[in-house]
Amino acid sequence: MNVAEKLKILANAAKYDASCSSSGSARVGKDGFGSAAMAGICHSWSADGRCISLLKVLMSNSCVYDCAYCVNRASANPPRATFTPEELASLVVEFYRRNYIEGLFLSSGVCRSPDYTMELMIKTLELLRNDYRFYGYIHLKVIPGASPELISRAGLLADRLSVNIELPSRESLKLLAPQKERAGLVRPMRNIKALKLQNADEKKHFKSAPTFAPAGQTTQMIVGATGESDLDILRLSKGLYSSFDMKRVYFSAYLPVSTSPLLPGREKPIELRREHRLYQADWLMRFYKFDAEEILDRAGSSNLDPALDPKCAWALRHPEFFPVEVNTADYEMLLRVPGVGVKSALRIVRARRLASLGADDLRKMGVVMKRAQYFLTARGKYAGAVAPDSPFLREMLSERRDMAQLSLFGDASAPALPSGITLSDSTALAMCELAAPVEW
Ligand code: SF4
Repeated sequence: MNVAEKLKILANAAKYDASCSSSGSARVGKDGFGSAAMAGICHSWSADGRCISLLKVLMSNSCVYDCAYCVNRASANPPRATFTPEELASLVVEFYRRNYIEGLFLSSGVCRSPDYTMELMIKTLELLRNDYRFYGYIHLKVIPGASPELISRAGLLADRLSVNIELPSRESLKLLAPQKERAGLVRPMRNIKALKLQNADEKKHFKSAPTFAPAGQTTQMIVGATGESDLDILRLSKGLYSSFDMKRVYFSAYLPVSTSPLLPGREKPIELRREHRLYQADWLMRFYKFDAEEILDRAGSSNLDPALDPKCAWALRHPEFFPVEVNTADYEMLLRVPGVGVKSALRIVRARRLASLGADDLRKMGVVMKRAQYFLTARGKYAGAVAPDSPFLREMLSERRDMAQLSLFGDASAPALPSGITLSDSTALAMCELAAPVEW
């Protein structure tokens, strides 16, 4: 098998990853310039906000594990391929030179053993960094079960490391991925955190010491393959942020695939809206000082409302706090007003030191008055058509227009995957969680 054939197989495994923006479109340029490629390139955002394109590929899709949800599991029968480190390193450099990519996202199935696979991946990175002098961005998936020494080496070569937590609970893991144990997934996360702390200490004494995984670590879990509630998922997510200094926890909506009776069937829709709501809730926890138990409490539903963004849903459950007066409310309360973001809350706090703010000022500061009007007053004036505790408000704020489940691939009227693409392809996303839409 030549390198192009291997690339087709190993990039293909990643192309329908919902949490990473592969193009999903193929078009060959004829009389103009530029061609679109279905697979292989994804986009990520650097810390300074630049969008960078990454070659998203597996080292190998051979796997000795047999996770029920994965197209590359040992008992499945897809075409298999494995890059040699030399092939992959040269491919990255050639793509970089042609200006196709600016970095690499590298994951893999477990080929022979976790350490063997990690050795292959590390060798690739060593070739890139040491022989080719490639300084572009590299995100490396750590293979669960790899030894701490290999993780330590990998962190000095890659910008970001990630280990997948895979499924939201120990029981689900036991059911669908019995060869993986929660402890075995958490251990590398703990190692990475410890190595980062140790590295920070070294850098205090030796300024020239190399930085270990400068873009930190992330993780990802499959949502919807098993019965955990959104509250369970948010609690786990919160624990992952606080215990392992995660930069980001990604949620990957399960796509029905396999004939395994353990998995939800094909008739179950792809839960992209659920994934979207979880990302919104995650955002509330990270930047808006909400707690998982506030976003969802056991007294009510333990799942997020698909028709309402979680901040609106919280505000509707707590009309006693609203409306708030923007000229006097504290920053934390402003953050809880639907339609007021972190930036606009900061702008309000700064601007109101100089002058009292009216509704027009708020609009100019980026406040989304369509939602905010029901939850605030400006100079004592309330602009909402109904009060915050009105029984009609929920309906008015519901996102009804786009409630139809969209296809991952563009055609809203045809949620099925395009012909020629099997659900197995798309479930590549659920296996090794190859990447994520935005990396912060
Ligand atoms: S999810 Fe990863 S470890 Fe499990 S079968 Fe797929 S490739 Fe192998």
